[in-house]
Amino acid sequence: MNPAADDPAPHDQEQKRGVDILHNPRLNKGTAFTPEERDNLNLRGLLPPKYLPIEEQLDLVYENYSHKESDLEKYIYLIGLLDRNEILFYRLLEGHLEEMMPVVYTPTVGLACQRYSRIFRRPRGLCISLRDRGRVDTILANWPYRDIRIIVVTDGERILGLGDLGLNGMGIPVGKLSLYVAAAGIDPSKTLPVCLDVGTNNEELRHDPLYLGLDRSRERGEEYDELIDEFINAVRARWPRCIIQFEDFGNTNAFRLLEKYRDEAPVLNDDIQGTGAVTLAGLLGALRITKQPLSEQRIVFLGAGEAGIGIAEAIMTGMKEEGLSDEEAKQRFWHVDSKGLVTHQRAGELAPHKLLFARDEPPVNTLGRVVERVQPTVLLGVSGKPGLFNEMIVRAMARQIERPIIFALSNPTSKAECTARQAYTWTDGRAIYASGSPFDPLTINGRFFRPGQGNNAYVFPGVGLGAIVSGAKRIVNSMFHHAAMALANTVSDELLEEGSVYPRQSDIKEVSLEIAAAVAREAYRLGVNGEPEPDDLESYIRDWVWKPEYTPYG
Ligand code: NAD
Repeated sequence: MNPAADDPAPHDQEQKRGVDILHNPRLNKGTAFTPEERDNLNLRGLLPPKYLPIEEQLDLVYENYSHKESDLEKYIYLIGLLDRNEILFYRLLEGHLEEMMPVVYTPTVGLACQRYSRIFRRPRGLCISLRDRGRVDTILANWPYRDIRIIVVTDGERILGLGDLGLNGMGIPVGKLSLYVAAAGIDPSKTLPVCLDVGTNNEELRHDPLYLGLDRSRERGEEYDELIDEFINAVRARWPRCIIQFEDFGNTNAFRLLEKYRDEAPVLNDDIQGTGAVTLAGLLGALRITKQPLSEQRIVFLGAGEAGIGIAEAIMTGMKEEGLSDEEAKQRFWHVDSKGLVTHQRAGELAPHKLLFARDEPPVNTLGRVVERVQPTVLLGVSGKPGLFNEMIVRAMARQIERPIIFALSNPTSKAECTARQAYTWTDGRAIYASGSPFDPLTINGRFFRPGQGNNAYVFPGVGLGAIVSGAKRIVNSMFHHAAMALANTVSDELLEEGSVYPRQSDIKEVSLEIAAAVAREAYRLGVNGEPEPDDLESYIRDWVWKPEYTPYG
């Protein structure tokens, strides 16, 4: 049976008539109710007389959207549409994914989070606070849908590059799940955004009388762990097949919670594992251009946080596939953080997540010196600090090797370690460049370049879909590895020639289906699947996918 169709949800159209149906975003079609439906559902007179098919509604909402002057207004408009008419929202988003992804997700969602209390209109997702300890299951029971397959949960501590936003972080799970739906076709009624309110250390928010979260400092002790534990256990008991994605937790908790739960529940952390997979995919694309093996690269990372460590782990898995041992792979990485080269020999204690990749060599204070010493083939920027891949460093790298691979992944665009133009100009067009936020295609000295964007949205929707479809009981690193390889295989030779190591964003849904199949196959291979393996996985996945289409009402 198609599991997408087995939710006996309380939104059953049989129960609703008249205005109730218009006020239910899942059921409402607005002006697209046919005259017969209006009669059958007691809607006559509650709507203007004209019937508009969905295509005309789409033209109308797109026009309204386009007239909004700021990105925040566009965001508010889209969320308003989601609150009124879910199918129309997802149809619009799916049709304009490349254009709207930066509005429903990063960077605009960051602004929306900062303004959360001000732009809050209708509740979306579950807020679970420290005060709710002991009754988390009752809160889950309040959620109106019964077959939840994926949760995105944040504690609001490290929202994008904006830091601690407390409960205002709720916009992140909402935005991320809308991409799971639009980019991978996960039925929205099977998704649940959650924000755990454990206080905030953001003084500005705490002094804001309109802040909607708990007015207390961030809990760091036992109560925090108890709440997380209770939440995970309650979800496991109520929805045993549900995937839980940790999102935008602070550094220490992000690594700790992933480690704590990964062997007992299907949990993932996109900031760590998704970033790792999307970057590895880009690197594999770049190596298709240079025709070199992954295992021979010397890789310098600027940044040793969630992204830097997650990427190193992903590349390490890739190098091991090519025959290196853990130790041999680690020898090919150099992490530089705000205190210089991450090495056991430098003064002070290293954070636990940095220990795995810490080197055993004398300290080096600057990135420039590390580049001089290491002569890297790959330079990866995940520091959140703009401009650190300066002309001297990039030119030095270009003197050492023919095709320097330079990924400036810090978001948003203004934080990139170097721009696409800088990378191409300083290397006479030899750089293979990708960024975290988009840069427009450009022409330098008559040559056209299309810089790729290492957007996690290429990976997490497909991983989620593959894990759901296979009923994965665990999310294992090798699933991300297979996701990365599947993504890398979707990049055409034509795109590589233009310098892009990622597929077009407009193809993201097809990419997600490829990734889902790769992830599900890995789940079956490892025996961590909770659902039987279908005879024809590809068509099973296609059948599973939810489509934003109005159902005719009898
Ligand atoms: P984080 O806070 O966990 O880590 C940041 C790291 O950068 C830390 O190790 C810190 O010491 C280091 N750092 C800070 N200032 C530095 C400096 N001046 N010189 C050298 N190192 C410095 O953050 P994160 O989650 O790892 O994210 C880092 C950046 O990566 C962010 O800008 C984020 O937007 C970006 N990112 C991109 C993608 C993507 O492109 N797909 C995915 C995830 C994160």
